[in-house]
Amino acid sequence: MTSRLAARMSRVKPSAIRELLRLGADPNVISFGGGYPDASLFPIAGLDEVFRKTLAENGQEALQYTVSNGMPLLRRQIAERMTRDGVPCTTDEVLILQGGQQGLDLVAKMLVDKDDVIVVEDPTFLGALIAFNPCEPRYVTVGMDEDGMDVEALDAALKANPGAKFIYTVPDFHNPTGVTMSLARRKRLVEIANAHDIIILEDSPYREIRFEGERIPPIKSFDTEGRVIYLGSFSKILAPGLRLGWAVASTDLIEQLGLLKLAADTQTSTLNMAVASRFLADYDIDAHIGTIRSAYRHKKNLMLDTIRQSFPQEIACTDASGGLFTWLTFPEGFDTAAFMLDHALPEARVAYVPGATFFALDQRPNHARLSYSTQTDERLVAGITALGNVLKSHMGS
Ligand code: PMP
Repeated sequence: MTSRLAARMSRVKPSAIRELLRLGADPNVISFGGGYPDASLFPIAGLDEVFRKTLAENGQEALQYTVSNGMPLLRRQIAERMTRDGVPCTTDEVLILQGGQQGLDLVAKMLVDKDDVIVVEDPTFLGALIAFNPCEPRYVTVGMDEDGMDVEALDAALKANPGAKFIYTVPDFHNPTGVTMSLARRKRLVEIANAHDIIILEDSPYREIRFEGERIPPIKSFDTEGRVIYLGSFSKILAPGLRLGWAVASTDLIEQLGLLKLAADTQTSTLNMAVASRFLADYDIDAHIGTIRSAYRHKKNLMLDTIRQSFPQEIACTDASGGLFTWLTFPEGFDTAAFMLDHALPEARVAYVPGATFFALDQRPNHARLSYSTQTDERLVAGITALGNVLKSHMGS
């Protein structure tokens, strides 16, 4: 029956990294591939108590349908947190989502017709491309450097593509590069978006996982025209299995997104929203986030120190001040996907994500994404050292 599929299904393909990650799921392989948070950091005792209390004290409400935009109390709590982070907003400007990922899907559905242009960073979050693809967009890519998206190149790209629908950016501890957009670039990005009258989709699930340096206000905090849609997530600060995220946008856009949310899944799980809300009320989530930050700071430093000691000199890596990832750049002509299958997996028993898949258009083969979040210290050092040895033996340095 697959001959009956809609045309859009030609853009819905299993991602190449699935297969590679399956290979990396072998327990004898040390995988730096997945972008999962460290499960040992989930506040299980707290959540256990909160789930039990929620069911015992508010069971009927917590198991009932609720409004499609999400439980008002949780939306208010999120609005308060966003306001403290420099994005003053009200309950009506918040929509609860089934993870930030659902926001990517709904925003594309809301804005994009076939062949419309979406501007994405080069490289970009693969899950965003997967969410946008069924809308059959055209992509225009804008390069990045250590300060994030090259906004002057963006300006030129928008001049060349009038009518582009939105700009997608991950400004904080970018997936896959780990890079954070500078303050000056954020302000300039909003100026450029205003001049071209285009929407910005600011996707920031790692925002609170900063372990070094000064916080930089969200892009949305510079938005005076209601053109920035902000996506946040509980996945990295509480637990991804709860599937809880949120959008903050002007009420007219939230209303449209809410209609799509209703069509997609009626609402996010009432029980999970009630639990998150109670967790925010009864527990010190900021103290918990502090614990997560220190754990990842330690892991990031350990990974970078080990890379510096054991990798050939000609491989560059980014030094993220937050989030879960470092991004490797190999010399031109090096193919990280082939190297993984031919050498990293069989010889070092190590997996990573080859970088090509993160590029919307020009899939450059000489990059890789490593995540430091899930391995123990011992396995992290053993895996990176083994990978370094195999790289040295094949790169001749
Ligand atoms: N955006 C980015 C950049 C991500 O890396 C992820 C996955 N961690 C998401 C969105 C979606 O996360 P979730 O749906 O779990 O909130």
